[in-house]
Amino acid sequence: MGVEVLGVEFDSVTMDEAVRRGMAMLDTEKPDYVVTPNPEVVMTCREDALALEAVKNASMVLPDGIGIIYGAKLLGRPLPERVPGADFALRLFDEMAKTGRSVFLLGAKPGVAELAAQKLSERFPGLVVAGTNDGYFTDDGPVLAKINEAAPDLLLVCLGVPKQEKWMYENRDKLRVRLMAGLGGSLDVYAGVVERAPESWQRLGLEWLYRLKKEPKRIGRMMKLPKFLFCVMGERLRGR
Ligand code: UDP
Repeated sequence: MGVEVLGVEFDSVTMDEAVRRGMAMLDTEKPDYVVTPNPEVVMTCREDALALEAVKNASMVLPDGIGIIYGAKLLGRPLPERVPGADFALRLFDEMAKTGRSVFLLGAKPGVAELAAQKLSERFPGLVVAGTNDGYFTDDGPVLAKINEAAPDLLLVCLGVPKQEKWMYENRDKLRVRLMAGLGGSLDVYAGVVERAPESWQRLGLEWLYRLKKEPKRIGRMMKLPKFLFCVMGERLRGR
């Protein structure tokens, strides 16, 4: 059952359930894709019809940010827990490594996906990294061909929002993959190029503040968060 937050329907799942469903999707031929919207993405979807269409067509919609959890709670339809995309993929890798499944890493600046591949291979022996490509290409054709040549079980699409959601939606029928996940800056984190917030900050729901401290230029993007909460309060007052 889904939980609707400002027009985006989230799957009401725990991390464990999300991983179980993700693994089941690896066993079907259909190229499923997973999206992990935060409040910024939800606000983008209100103004960008293609982004909304892409999110609506996903096989699983996971609540990445603490803002979504608060928003859902304020609307009186709580979600079980935060399911951060970067952690979701790490849990998948753990399972996939047991049976020698493969992943292709697409996105981030040149060199980052290769570094992430190296780190992930060390961390998850058994996981096959079938290929990598940076996220600054202008022509989809050669990239699609490269991915199809590698035919991975899982494709991480880390092109930033809403580009990655649209890319998965528009290319899903051209790809020989079983599952895709749009994971923003996760390759930077796996490669160690960008640090994740310490766990204590994450537990307090302050990961966004940590990122802002590290990258003050994100302030413009983050202004979508108060706007998001404002819209949620509006819906709540209207009793929707
Ligand atoms: N990126 C990319 N191609 C682009 C634009 C962005 O590969 O055309 C990458 C960028 O290098 C970064 C990721 O997409 O690795 C987006 O990171 P950001 O921190 O903005 O993502 P978020 O997790 O906030 O969506």
